[in-house]
Amino acid sequence: MTEGTNIRIAGVMGWPVAHSRSPILHGYWLSEHRIAGHYVPFAVRPEDLGQALKALAPLGIAGCNLTIPLKEKALVYLDEIEGRAHLMGAVNTVVVRDGRLAGFNTDVDGFRESLREAVPSFAGRHATILGAGGAARAVLAALVDLGIRDVRLANRNIARAQTLHDALSALALHIEIVPWDERAAALGGTDLLVNATSLGMSGGEALVLDLANLPAHAIVADLVYVPLETPLLAAARARGNHVVDGLGMLLHQARFGFAQWFGVMPDVTPALRARVQASLGI
Ligand code: NAP
Repeated sequence: MTEGTNIRIAGVMGWPVAHSRSPILHGYWLSEHRIAGHYVPFAVRPEDLGQALKALAPLGIAGCNLTIPLKEKALVYLDEIEGRAHLMGAVNTVVVRDGRLAGFNTDVDGFRESLREAVPSFAGRHATILGAGGAARAVLAALVDLGIRDVRLANRNIARAQTLHDALSALALHIEIVPWDERAAALGGTDLLVNATSLGMSGGEALVLDLANLPAHAIVADLVYVPLETPLLAAARARGNHVVDGLGMLLHQARFGFAQWFGVMPDVTPALRARVQASLGI
C-alpha cells in the first residue's frame, strides 16, 4: 500500500502484455466497487521476472497476474505455491502477504465456475478433451470438481498427452488417450466436449471435427474466445447441443486475485461481459 494513502495497486506481468484484457476487467471492477486502486500492465522480459517479482513488496504493490510466457517461469521466485499451481506447473496470480510472495493458479476455478454458471445442473460423468497444453491441464483438474470420472484425451502430439496423463495421475480421473485422428469416434457417449487446443481462433487454423457421434445432450465448451462463437460452437449449437464460450473462464479466473488485492469478491455480470467483449471486438 502506498504510504499515507489507501490506494492499492496490482497489475499483470507479461511479454508482450499489451494484448491482455486484465486491465480492462479489473478496471471495470475497481470502478464498479468505487475502490481507490489501480491495475496496470507491466511489460516484463522473461529474464527480468525474478527482479520484477522481488520488487512487488518493496514497491507496496498488492500482487499481480502473470501471462505468457511468465506463468511457468515464476514458480522458482515465489515463497509459497498453493497446491493447484503445483499441479498446473504454472502460476497466474501472485499475492503479496506480509512481504512474502504466494503463487496461485486460478484457471481451474475459472473453467469450473464458467461451466457451472452456464449449466448449473451439469451432472455428466464422461468428457472428451481436445488438447494437452496448459489449458487442457486446468480443464482436467476442474473436471474432477465437476464430478467427471472418465475422460478421453485427444492431442495431435500423443507423447504430450501421455505426459499430461502422467502428471495428473494423482487426480481421481480415468484418462484414456485417443489418437488425434480418432477424435470424432471418441465423441460417442460423452457428456462434455471441450476444445482446449488453439484451433478455431480468428485468423488461425480451423478445428476439423465431425460431431455426428456427439450425443444430443452433450455440452460443448470452447476455450477459444476470439471469436466468441467459434465454428465448433456454431456447429454444436446448430445441432441442438448446449454451448459454453471461452470468455466465462477468462472472467471467472480473475475473481480470486481481485478479492485478494482489493478486498472485495467481484461478480461476473452481463455488463462486465459486454465491456470485455467490446474491448475484444467480439
Ligand atoms: P498450448 O500450451 O500452446 O497448447 C496448444 C494446444 O493446441 C496443444 O494441445 C496443441 O497440440 C494444440 N494445437 C495447436 N495447433 C494445432 C494443430 N494445428 N492441430 C492440432 N492441435 C493443435 O496453449 P494453451 O495455453 O493450452 O491454450 C490453448 C487454447 O486455450 C488457446 O487458444 C488459449 O487462448 C486458450 N485459453 C483460454 C483460456 C480462457 O480463459 N478462455 C485460458 C487459457 C487458454 P500439440 O501438443 O500437438 O502441439
